[in-house]
Amino acid sequence: MRKYHQHFCIGQSVQGLRLDFHCFDVQDIPPLAKREDIPPLDVLFLGAFHGDEPESAELCFRLLHDLHHDATLGEGLRLGVVPIVNPDGLLLKTRKNQRNVDLNRNFETQNWEASSPEEPYHGGVLPFSEPESRCIAQLVNQTAPKLILSYHTPYRLINYDGPLPQTEELATRYAHACDYPAEASIGYPTPGSFGNWAGVERGIPVLTVELPEGERMNDLWAVHRGAIEVVLARL
Ligand SMILES: [Zn+2]
Repeated sequence: MRKYHQHFCIGQSVQGLRLDFHCFDVQDIPPLAKREDIPPLDVLFLGAFHGDEPESAELCFRLLHDLHHDATLGEGLRLGVVPIVNPDGLLLKTRKNQRNVDLNRNFETQNWEASSPEEPYHGGVLPFSEPESRCIAQLVNQTAPKLILSYHTPYRLINYDGPLPQTEELATRYAHACDYPAEASIGYPTPGSFGNWAGVERGIPVLTVELPEGERMNDLWAVHRGAIEVVLARL
């Protein structure tokens, strides 16, 4: 079956760089001129929450390439991809965004914590103080994905947040397919994280895929494409 692809800008970073969203649909739908036009999604993929984790963006671009060229990948599903959540950080090669905020601690959760800007995981002066995290939250609220895959480095594991046992089952299947461990906790608290916001507080299964560093992207993508196909087949 042919896939229909549209992409457009859903927001801006602090510096004014585009946050691009790609939508692959099973049917031809009216042009998506603005974010409000985006229909509900089956799966949302997110890359480069942290600017010093470029492998996560590159993996999302490999995904975009294959979605363009191979109609069997994601067949029958409506998929969304934001390959670069933190374009300012990617440009600066920093974990945080241009205002020195860790976007993965800037979500409005019950456990969000105030912290000093010097701290490595500083979550902003307030929850949702940053345009990038607000943009992703609006996208998730509007499109209500059935599954979210958020890519990071460098721990080589699958961390998961969301309703059980469904989320654990999806994480275990993904982890098994790439021979990584699946972990309910990453080993340290993550107040204000995207996984807390979307998975714990909104009940959307979130797999935080921690890629290893230093592996050839061709090899990494081959493994993760296989794992993605395994979990998409379960939806
Ligand atoms: Zn990260």
